[in-house]
Amino acid sequence: MTQHIHPESLKNLPQAVVSQITSLMQADGFSGHFSAQQYQTLLATSNMTDTEFKLALLPIAATRAYCGISHFHVGAIAEGHSGNVYFGANIEIPGVQLNQTVHAEQSAISHAWMKGETGIKNITINHTPCGHCRQFMNELNQVDELSIQLPNRPSYSLADLLPESFGPKDLDIEARLMDSTRQNYRFDNATSTIVNAIEALNLSHAPYTHNHSGVALQTQSGGLYSGAYAENAAFNPSLPPLQVAINLLLLAGEKLEHITTAVLAENANGSISHLAETQTTLEAINPDITLEYLSLSQ
Ligand SMILES: [Zn+2]
Repeated sequence: MTQHIHPESLKNLPQAVVSQITSLMQADGFSGHFSAQQYQTLLATSNMTDTEFKLALLPIAATRAYCGISHFHVGAIAEGHSGNVYFGANIEIPGVQLNQTVHAEQSAISHAWMKGETGIKNITINHTPCGHCRQFMNELNQVDELSIQLPNRPSYSLADLLPESFGPKDLDIEARLMDSTRQNYRFDNATSTIVNAIEALNLSHAPYTHNHSGVALQTQSGGLYSGAYAENAAFNPSLPPLQVAINLLLLAGEKLEHITTAVLAENANGSISHLAETQTTLEAINPDITLEYLSLSQ
């Protein structure tokens, strides 16, 4: 999938880096992140500090926004513990309730999580994080070490931006988002789409409802994207599995209209279900999408 690059989004970057970035992003299989090695090469070529360079990359992330309601492009860049660097951007789906929106911070963090990261070192954003995102980030493991970087500001900790916070410990929950804990659901003789949905389910963070759940989406081009449910102590900032999968699909340069098949796999014994919202959102995207539903017990 070749990604379109808006020339305007490259204007804060030195020319030598522009050509390197262009060739990485237009390579086959680019899905919205740079490996640690690619990123370090780009950074060295840029002659910028790490934060300056991430800030200069934000306009590229922001062009990934799918924001037909607000027309407000937010870009985020999350660096995982591996040193890999992940783009994120906001997602709004016309015709669907606003609580199905994905914010750029949620996008970059869930992107890193779905590609195997088990923690975030820092996140860089082109607008100050809203309260919803501050609460979302408060669910992360090792959150005390997270650095939040904004244009023309010092670097913040989450405690700077979210004093007197409410979080998992207030509900006596030890598990944190991006912990490497896995569930162990299985389904025999599964198609690759089902396997992907169940892998996402096994990764999901659902300590409050136990609705371990995952979604996989297949596109016309054969692309396969999966999303795990990311639950939050304050409940509303929880990120449904469909949104996490849609996010990966858009960051890889695919279009929502190209989804052909979706699978939702969830715990049969959780205290909620994602089925109704998943059906509604897919219906709004394209009524022809086939949704397969698996209700599983561990
Ligand atoms: Zn936000």
